[in-house]
Amino acid sequence: MPEPAPAVFEGNDRFSAPAKASRPLLEVRNLKKYFPIERGFLRRVAGYVKAVDDVSFSIYEGETFGLVGESGCGKTTLGRCIVRAFAPTAGEILLQIPAGEDGGAPARMVDLATLPRGELRSVRRHFHMIFQDPYSSLDPRMTVLDIIAEPLRENQLASGEALNERVKELMGVVGLEVQHLKRYPHAFSGGQRQRIGIARSLAPNPRLIVCDEAVSALDVSIQAQILNLLQDLQQQFHLTYLFIAHDLSVVEHISDRVGVMYVGRLVELAPAGELFHHPQHPYTEALLSAVPMADPRRKMERIILPGEVANPANPPTGCYFHPRCQYAQEICQQESPPWREIRPDHFSACHFSEELELQGVDMGAKTKPGVATSARAKPSAPPAASPPALSAPN
Ligand code: SF4
Repeated sequence: MPEPAPAVFEGNDRFSAPAKASRPLLEVRNLKKYFPIERGFLRRVAGYVKAVDDVSFSIYEGETFGLVGESGCGKTTLGRCIVRAFAPTAGEILLQIPAGEDGGAPARMVDLATLPRGELRSVRRHFHMIFQDPYSSLDPRMTVLDIIAEPLRENQLASGEALNERVKELMGVVGLEVQHLKRYPHAFSGGQRQRIGIARSLAPNPRLIVCDEAVSALDVSIQAQILNLLQDLQQQFHLTYLFIAHDLSVVEHISDRVGVMYVGRLVELAPAGELFHHPQHPYTEALLSAVPMADPRRKMERIILPGEVANPANPPTGCYFHPRCQYAQEICQQESPPWREIRPDHFSACHFSEELELQGVDMGAKTKPGVATSARAKPSAPPAASPPALSAPN
């Protein structure tokens, strides 16, 4: 089946129009996910891999929050904890459920980290995940109809002819031909499979979508199509994204704010333009220095980090980054740097953030207006009107 014509990624300028709400849709507080290391015949616990270690941040309604870091830094584990594919070890994952949802209940925050299984099931339709690999994330024995209809059936949102109509509507929304309803995933290209995955994630009208390396496995031209589709859908349905990726140029273009993770911890968080132009953590600076530049006039000295990423089962003392940091001082080996707001809306965990003059990159990033980026900057404007639903589920 032919793939649609290649698209050019349209960047984040298109985000300037909508007024985005200011209240956090999701608040992650002191989240930890430790995996036990079992040894011996009796499988005694000999230690823990601290995949996510005391991470806190908020995501606002209608915003795209980018999460970057090297492979193994814990960003995927964090995303999976948020959608409760993993049960967190400690911490809170507070999701806002608006008034009128779930049988007319008042607005409330629910803690996904501790919600009992039965209640978790009832709020699951408010969040969904798009996976990295469009080849393995779809069941090869299910038709497109069944794949997209599954969350509708599980949440008892539609049945019979209404379900079929809704699946067709979703296929149209993501740019798939409705006559391919009865085909199996192997009949589609990578980009089309990812569109099926997106249609499936949209099915129950979620408010938060966790995109876990959603375009990493696709060709560059197809990546642009999928990114443009995600942006269109965000505007159309007022979606909120946690966008996990290792490709910094993709994250820079699609994100309102970006968090940087290293060995299970957030080390920097700032609006996208601010983070890319004025990084305040040496690890962010090193990551940015590795971004390929299309424009030869834009030069940034490449920083080659020595050694390997620290072992999350046995991290270094003090700042986890100190064995690889060219700016490390004695205090860095002894004391863990506190998480501080060093500029408005710009957080960093480095003892010397204010003193260091780190080099950033200029890739044309703009901080998107209309997004409140911290509790301090939170405007008093009323929340945005409810986004349009695809159709009223039965
Ligand atoms: Fe480098 Fe020290 Fe800052 Fe850690 S605290 S990033 S070792 S300067």
